Amino acid sequence: MSIPTIPLNSGHAIPQLGFGVFKVPADEAERAVSEAFEVGYRHIDTAAIYGNEEGVGAAIAKSGLPREDLFITTKLWNDRHAGSEPHAAIRESLDKLGLEAVDLYLVHWPAPANDQYVNAWERMIEIRDAGLARSIGVSNHLPEHLDRIVAATGVVPAVDQVELHPAYQQRDVQAWGKAHGMHVESWGPLGQGKYPLLENPVVTAAAEAHGATPAQVVIRWHLQNGLIVFPKSSRKERMAENFDVVGFELSAQEMAAIDGLDPQDGSGRVGTHPSELN
Ligand code: NAD
Repeated sequence: MSIPTIPLNSGHAIPQLGFGVFKVPADEAERAVSEAFEVGYRHIDTAAIYGNEEGVGAAIAKSGLPREDLFITTKLWNDRHAGSEPHAAIRESLDKLGLEAVDLYLVHWPAPANDQYVNAWERMIEIRDAGLARSIGVSNHLPEHLDRIVAATGVVPAVDQVELHPAYQQRDVQAWGKAHGMHVESWGPLGQGKYPLLENPVVTAAAEAHGATPAQVVIRWHLQNGLIVFPKSSRKERMAENFDVVGFELSAQEMAAIDGLDPQDGSGRVGTHPSELN
């Protein structure tokens, strides 16, 4: 099965569909990522704060897959924005992952109350220039945070990874990305199971029409919107289900109906607001 790739502003390309490991416990990460590789995933999304980079690294080492076939993302945690801490943090992550460089390194949250995210972004640029991250980006950054880091450095993040699913589409972040050549990654693409997305009649009707599952329909919606997506599941059969999404296409009407699921008042958000997390 061929997963499309998306060219980033760094000159590198990212597989549009990957596997996320948020809340995969450290002692399960090696098994989960090994199974994801068996299913066919080559793009893995982890973070220092997930506490499972060593398990991800063990799965990479055991896989025998050529390094150039893999796309590995990790993230800088909020308490390491200041001074030269980002440099120490990337080296720790690389040690745990057993890699010389990650494909994508992200500032995990702006944590604006600490007001160190501009420093973090300046250090990320140095990390990229030192060859420790092929591409650099951010996560949970709102347009106001993006404007500030670009004004300070002139460097546009390759991606912004934000909570994004049909009930919370972050259209302002998507518009910012289009205007500046930055791609958007959807975290919690299935709504983290926190609202009844997969039972929504708009989703189930499209699923029936295509002989697909509701999760596959939602993943297609992300892909057809040009979003980068990495649903998480600890179960191999669901990993396979979530990867089996290139054999059908949602119609313009089905896409529009799913677009209509966002109440557009912010009430569809299931995670923490970026201005509130430190
Ligand atoms: P998700 O929307 O992918 O939901 C995962 C949950 O959906 C699973 O635990 C499972 O219960 C359910 N699920 C998965 N496949 C299913 C299927 N086929 N059918 C029915 N239910 C299914 O949420 P997520 O894990 O939070 O997000 C995906 C990834 O995004 C994470 O693993 C992580 O890599 C990333 N993420 C990043 C941030 C951030 O702040 N940058 C925050 C959260 C998640």
